Amino acid sequence: MTDGPTYGFDTLQIHAGARPDPATGARQTPIYQTTAYVFRDTDHAAALFNLQEVGFIYSRLTNPTVAVLQERIATLEGGVGAVCCSSGHAAQIMAIFPLMGPGKNIIASTRLYGGTVTQFSQTIKRFGWSCKFVDFDDLDAVRAAVDDDTRAIFGEVIANPGGHIMDVRAIADIADEAGVPLIIDNTSATPYLCRPIEHGATLVVHSTTKYLTGNGTVTGGCVVDSGKFDWSANDKFPSLSQPEPAYHGLKFHETFGALAYTFHGIAIGLRDLGMTMNPQAAHYTLMGIETLSLRMDRHVANAKKIAEWLENDNRIEAVTYAGLKSSPYYERGAKLCPKGAGALFTIAVKGGYEACVKLVEALEIFSHVANLGDTRSLVIHSASTTHRQLSTEQQVAAGAGPNVVRISVGTEDPDDLIADLDQALSKAAS
Ligand SMILES: *Cc1c(COP(=O)(O)O)cnc(C)c1O
Repeated sequence: MTDGPTYGFDTLQIHAGARPDPATGARQTPIYQTTAYVFRDTDHAAALFNLQEVGFIYSRLTNPTVAVLQERIATLEGGVGAVCCSSGHAAQIMAIFPLMGPGKNIIASTRLYGGTVTQFSQTIKRFGWSCKFVDFDDLDAVRAAVDDDTRAIFGEVIANPGGHIMDVRAIADIADEAGVPLIIDNTSATPYLCRPIEHGATLVVHSTTKYLTGNGTVTGGCVVDSGKFDWSANDKFPSLSQPEPAYHGLKFHETFGALAYTFHGIAIGLRDLGMTMNPQAAHYTLMGIETLSLRMDRHVANAKKIAEWLENDNRIEAVTYAGLKSSPYYERGAKLCPKGAGALFTIAVKGGYEACVKLVEALEIFSHVANLGDTRSLVIHSASTTHRQLSTEQQVAAGAGPNVVRISVGTEDPDDLIADLDQALSKAAS
């Protein structure tokens, strides 16, 4: 199909990027389980390697199944192009790689997925990169953290684990003033609930492992480019604006215009870092994404019903869901994510650590796992698992204190989920 602006989200999540297979007419996108592609002749091969013609060379760079998913996600996010990767964490490295160099830094929100905090605070230091973590509700502090070596600002719309909502527009304005891109991790919201590019984001990253695939089958990631950033407006992004020695002096921005960042991601990022999504994973994610809006509506309705029930239960101290009128993020959430504030939040349980351990052990439908965004409802007690190595003080600062359980609400019957929580909370209190 040709993607027109007239098509709605429900149509695009099924059709964008896909067409009947030209070789066989297969209606569903085939899994192109191949490493390489035969060149028509040596001129064709040379044109492909010179990026004068777009086509398939080798599946570390491009694959037809993965290409459909890339176009699908780019369309749903309102971007010009996307590059899929082997995981959400791979997508984050791929996203900042073209922007960074030794001594350069990014500014990130303090409210992030735990693995992202470790990646940005520890692992990227090995590349000579660094990250400053700032409370994104304190705009003056964000502005003050920007320096001459800052190359990007990074945050999550609906932040893990507490479901805090970020003021994307206000942070985008600070990024604009600084002449650097704003990168949004849109994993928890998905493009159905929020399209960060419409609020000023330059780049959007996803862990496609979560809601986009939707049923906990494969890991994957994606980097989407809005195509709106002027990489040549200042001298901060030489890999995009200047001759790139890793691609025989090609000037990506001059050559590819709005698609410069996407081409760079494939021709240099995937080529040299090799964090490639495999076609099987792309297939599973394409299957999942077809029902994204249907699932998200149900995730949100269930989350709202369960959060309201929990808020009124006297075994619970607090519920962080931004979809509750009592949440300090309720207004911002309603503006940014009018269809709902997602399905991820935390609860503080009376009785502390011991009660939380009993609760997760007593639950029958909810699974105790380190994952989110599954059709299955999931819980995790961070203090005894992912945040075990931290001091109590550090756990509290991360929103994962000893009395906190994170809930990822699935698409089961909400009354069954409430009944399960009810019986498990009774056991936790005894
Ligand atoms: C899971 C997750 C990631 C990391 O993605 P992986 O696919 O597990 O590598 C990053 N950000 C958020 C918000 C996540 O939920």
